[in-house]
Order: sequence, then C-alpha cells, then structure tokens
Amino acid sequence: MKFNSHNVWLLLAFLTVAAISSCQQARDIKQKSTIDLKVDSILAGMSLEEKVGQMTQITLSVVTQPDDPSKTDYPAVMNPKKLKEAFGKYKVGSVLNTGTNLPRSSEKWTEIIDQIQEWAIRETNIPMIYGIDAVHGVNYTSGATLFPQQIGQGATFNPELVKRLNEICAYEMRASNIPWNFAPVLDMGRDPRDARMWETYGEDVYLNGILGAAAVEGMQGNEETIDANHGAACLKHYLGYISTSGKDRNPLHIHTRELLEKHAPAFEASIIAGAKSIMVSSGIINGIPVHASHDILTTLLRDELGFEGMVVTDWADIDNLYNRDKFASSPKEAVKLAVNAGIDMSMVPYDFKFCDYLIELVNEGEVPVSRIDEAVRRVLKLKFELDLFKTPTTNFKNYPEFGSEAFEKTSYETALESITLLKNKDKKLPLKKNIKVMVTGPNANSMRTLNGGWSYSWQGEVTDQYTKKHNTLLEAIQNKIGNKNVTFVEGVSYNTEGKYYEEKDVDITAAVKAARGVDVIILCLGENSYTEKPGDLHDLYISENQTNLATALANTGKPVILVLNEGRPRIISKFEHLMTSVVQIYLPGNFGGDALADVLFGDKYPSGKLPYTYPVFPNSLITYDYKPSEKQEKLEGMYDYESDVAIQYEFGHGLSYTSFRYSNFSVSDEELTPGGLVKISVTVENTGSREGKETVMLFSSDLYATVTPDNKRLRGFKKVFLKPTESTTVEFEISAKDLAFYNRDNQLVAGEGEFILRIDDFNETIRLTETVVFGEKSKVRL
Ligand code: BGC
Repeated sequence: MKFNSHNVWLLLAFLTVAAISSCQQARDIKQKSTIDLKVDSILAGMSLEEKVGQMTQITLSVVTQPDDPSKTDYPAVMNPKKLKEAFGKYKVGSVLNTGTNLPRSSEKWTEIIDQIQEWAIRETNIPMIYGIDAVHGVNYTSGATLFPQQIGQGATFNPELVKRLNEICAYEMRASNIPWNFAPVLDMGRDPRDARMWETYGEDVYLNGILGAAAVEGMQGNEETIDANHGAACLKHYLGYISTSGKDRNPLHIHTRELLEKHAPAFEASIIAGAKSIMVSSGIINGIPVHASHDILTTLLRDELGFEGMVVTDWADIDNLYNRDKFASSPKEAVKLAVNAGIDMSMVPYDFKFCDYLIELVNEGEVPVSRIDEAVRRVLKLKFELDLFKTPTTNFKNYPEFGSEAFEKTSYETALESITLLKNKDKKLPLKKNIKVMVTGPNANSMRTLNGGWSYSWQGEVTDQYTKKHNTLLEAIQNKIGNKNVTFVEGVSYNTEGKYYEEKDVDITAAVKAARGVDVIILCLGENSYTEKPGDLHDLYISENQTNLATALANTGKPVILVLNEGRPRIISKFEHLMTSVVQIYLPGNFGGDALADVLFGDKYPSGKLPYTYPVFPNSLITYDYKPSEKQEKLEGMYDYESDVAIQYEFGHGLSYTSFRYSNFSVSDEELTPGGLVKISVTVENTGSREGKETVMLFSSDLYATVTPDNKRLRGFKKVFLKPTESTTVEFEISAKDLAFYNRDNQLVAGEGEFILRIDDFNETIRLTETVVFGEKSKVRL
C-alpha cells in the first residue's frame, strides 16, 4: 500500500480504534476475576462434547455394580465399564445421590468418591462435582450429626443456630468427601397438606429469607471461594414448589404478583447471601413446567434477582417435560426447551441421552453455542470456587470433629429451641419428677419418627438401625425419671413394613387399662416418616386410631400431655379440647427425645414459636397473612354471622414456663418519608420466676391498597433470653420498602397511606407520606 494522506488517516483511525479496544480488553480482563480468567481458558479448549458432558449429572448407581442403573450393590462397588462410558465417552461433569437405601460411613464415602474423581480427572481433565441431599445434617452418612428438620429450625426463630448447624453439616459433608449440598429448601410451607412442608422453614417468606441466608452463610462460609470445611449451597426448589391440590408435583395456579411477593424474596435474600447454585422446581405453574419457563429461569432469576450462579434441574425433570407433562412432544424437544429456558446442568439421572440430544440440537442450530458456553462457564466457575481443581477430594481422616459431642450439642440445642408449647392448661407443665407416667402412642418409641424422611435413606425407614445410641421419647423420659416410674403401652403402632400412613396393633383398651395406675399420660402422636410423592395425603385429620386413642385416654380423667411429632399439622380439633397440654416437637432429629424430656420435667424450658398456622378443619386452610375476606369468623356487612374459628394455633404462637410483659412500645415518627426510617422499640420483661426466651415479632398491616392487602405481615423478629425480673429493649427499623407489595403492574410499590405497626398487643398507626416505587415493573409473564 502506498501512503497517501487518506491512507495515513485510515491508519491513524485504525490504530486509535485498536488502542481503544485493547484498553477496553485490558480493562475487561482486569475486571474479570482470576477464576473467570481460568474458566475462559479452559472453556476455549473444550469440544462441544466436553461442554455438554459438564452440563450432565448422573446418579451414583450409573457407575456402580451391577450394570442396572436402578441398583447399587451395597456399600457400592465401582463398575469400570460404566465409569469409562460416563467419563471417557460422555465426559460427565457431576454425580449425585446415594444409590442405596442404607447410609455409608464417612470412610466409605471418601473411598467411593475418590475413585469416581480419579476417573473424572483422568478422562476429562476436569474434576467432577458430587452433590447430595444433606437437608438436616449429612443424612446419608452413618454417624453424622442429624439436626431437626427445617420446620423445627423455623420454629427456633434463631438464625445463629441455623447458621451454626449448617457449618457443622458442611464440615461433616466434606468429611464424607462431598462438596455440594442440595439445601437449604426455600419452598414456602403454606399448605399443611404438602408432603414436603416439613422440609421448609414454614409459611412466612420473611422468616424463610432470614433463615435461608443464615443457612447459606453457614454452609459456604463468608469468603468468595469455599474452603475445605465448607460446601456449596443449592437453594431449592426454585420457584413456587407447592401445588394447588396439596399433592407433590401437581400443578399450581398462582398470580405472578404472589410468586414475586411471597415466594421469590426468600430466594433473593439467599442469593444476596452468596448462594452458589439453585435447583429448579419440579412443579408446573399456570400450565408451564418451571423447567421450561424462560420467564422464571432467566427473566426473573438472572435479570431481576441478579443470580449469577449455576442452575441444576431436579431429578429427571427435563424428561418430565415430555413423559409427565406432555409439554414437549419428544425427549429431544424437552432438552431444547429446558436448556434454552436457562438450565445449566441436567440431573438426568440414569442415562446419557441428554448429551446426545443436546449435541444434535447445537449442531442443528436449535440451541445456540452461546447458551452452552454460558452454562459450562457457570459449572466450571462453581468447581473453581470450591477449589476442586486443586483439592478435588477431601478425606474423612482430616475431619476429627465428625460426629463429636460438641456438634451433637448444637443438634440438641436446636431441638430444644424448636419445641413449641401450644397449650398448657393450669400450668400442668413442667411435670414433677416424682410422679408416675404412662408413655403411649405410635411416636413414643421410634427414632424414625423423630427424624422423618431424608434420614439414613430417602424415606427414613431404616433410621432405628443407625440410631441405637440415641434416645426415643420413651427412653429419654425413662432416663429422666427412672424406668420404674414409666409405664409404656403403645396403644397404636405404625406398620413399619408398609406405607407411611398404615397402622397396626391397635389396642386402646390396653392403654386405657395401663393409664389407671399413673398420674399423667404422655401421649405421643403424629406421623411416620415420608417424603415427596410417597408422602401425599388424603385426609389432614390425624388418623382415626390415634383420635380414638386420645379420646379414650382423656376419658380416663387423667391429665393428658399431647406430644405432636409430625411433619405437617395433622388436624387434632376432634380431641384437642380434652388435652391438658399440647407440645409440638416437629421432626426434632436424634436429640429430640432428650430435649423433650428436659422440657417436660422442667430442666429446660420451651421457646419455639409455630412457623405456620395450625388449622382446625381440612377445608378451612389459611395462612396468617390472609386477605380480609378470608377471615372466617365473621363476614361483616352482607351477613353478619358468627362461624367457627378455623385456626387452632396461630402462626408465631408458643408459650413459655415464665411470663413476659411488653411495655414502652414506641414508634419514632407518625410519618414515614420515601427515603426515611421509622424506629420501633419495645421493652420485654421476664415477670415470671423462671428463665426463658421470647421471640419479639414486629408485624405490619397495610390498611388500604390497590391490591387487597394482607391481614398482616412479619417485618422483623428477635429472640431474647431473660432471667427472672430481667428486661431488655428490642429495636426495629422500618423503611418504605419493608412495607411494599406488588401492584397490578407487577411492580414493587409502597402506597401512600396508613399502616399499623404491631408488637404483641401494642400497635401504632404511621402514615407513608408518598407512594414509592421500587425498581422496574417485572417482565415476568406467567
Ligand atoms: C427432590 C430434590 C432432591 C433430588 C435429588 C428430587 O426428587 O425433589 O429435593 O434434591 O431429588 O435427590
């Protein structure tokens, strides 16, 4: 080329653009974290097959003996042929689950995962990531510390405890050579019929958000990257995993507004806390399976909630788009819909068809390579954040505190703080230790019922074999007051070989006869263990046998202390009025028996609060944040009639052995400005003669709104410990955003006007001076 002035200008322009763009690149590179740069460099050298492999997750039994992937020889023998297929041919990036109905030692888990990891690294050059459901401790590892299930954790209203137990869970998970946990569960426990209600922190979205964030911090630690004592959390099941019928994985019909306001914020709070991954809900919302919903998986999750981590499907849920939901017309179309909607990894879990279909789809231009790169980038990033490239495995030998007494103490404390005293007529509790009691009911002598599902096996049916050193309710009571003072007659028992709801050996007469010689009856009722679909329910009333047992025992005239050991509030209204005291223990884990005995006999005190509304009738289910017209007792105006009260015990209800007096309720301003804050404070005093813990709760009610407002909403809580005569002042702050709701345009707004702020029996009305709008209208259309 000859240089003329025109060329010179062109060259200068070119150099300037090049200089600007290389500065830009340098800046981009600088802004990228070291991990992002490492991910880029690996991604650049990967083939499509390798990338798709990273997006694939199989279950353990696919790579163990025998060849049939639905079976695993216990405790798991590796199958080289299948390992070669998984990692050599399909370049699989992740493995999950346990493969058998029996737990393994941390030593065995270490050995198994070491072998899988060796194959993965040798065949793919990338460590695989192992995932497990450790939903109340590492529940598939024998000897691990099992905690109360999440519903009991919710009842503690204690985020510090939830954080601590998650730290322990993470430590014991790494002792089992597993870095990734499919927990916490952030589904809303808003339907008492739901088989998975006990996996949640209860019905309130604010409580779920606070405890979810605490769980994430405990599980992952506070650093950007995760050390070998912590693991990656996986929030599940995003979003709206609850159904209109109350049955597992049935469709849900819901307005976008309600999803945004009462389901998404718990996920949002946990995303802000740094959650690294999310599992998609198996549900179907307004006719669209969530696994195929671009609105939920991309528009809401990425654009509006700002999640940058990795998204994994639930079990076989891409196939379900075709097989179950008839939404995709072929298994291949199902893959296309799910990947294009935004999933990053498929929990396949039994075969490799996902890989074959996805490669074809990319080659046919049906799934863009950019989508694949985005997904793989997130998978690799998670692996770097867990430092799996440098530390691909961990070893039980380096975790000497596994199953230690210190860890067990946290489990005990959580169980203790979850125990919720719902009724205590004539202050019958605590009991004296020099009395004779009868312990009865199907839940009296079972470690299985104390732990619930996801314990040692999926459905929890083998628990009693692995918990010999722990105490059932009966054993703990015997330890407390001596065998000779305790009579045990079961009255009704569960059929441990059958379905969770089957009962046998009904001998109410024997129980009534035995009750004659005792001072007090401790009646342990509830449910046997279950989870997911097998736990579906036809009738929310507690079983007929148990109802008959309760009624017959009450008719003896002896005081009956009813202990409820159940995953969901089974209705007790047919006999509740006959009970002297009612104690809810939920599914309290391996130390539930000890904690209950301590509470019943006054060595400790109850401090749990109900994290859901306990119903009276199966057809009158309601949550505490109901709409005005849902109020059951009276429909004012048209017909001014009285009706039955539909609430047995309110959300937040829970008695103590001492008494608390609230005073000095004060609200700093009558007016709240858009950028301002109102401070609320109250003094709580222990006016009784025993120490106790009280959860102070702040509620708000919007008086009038453009969408009919909720009865009330929890806006803050704080649990305080007080000795007799001690008092403390608890403070809260409220901004306009705390009072906001989603309006008809799906936009978060706090409307000008009056709001009532309430603590205990006190309330004050404040006025928001102007309507405040937060962020854009949601673009989600469901
Ligand atoms: C459950 C999930 C669980 C997954 C893996 C599914 O059936 O819905 O909660 O994480 O299995 O075990």
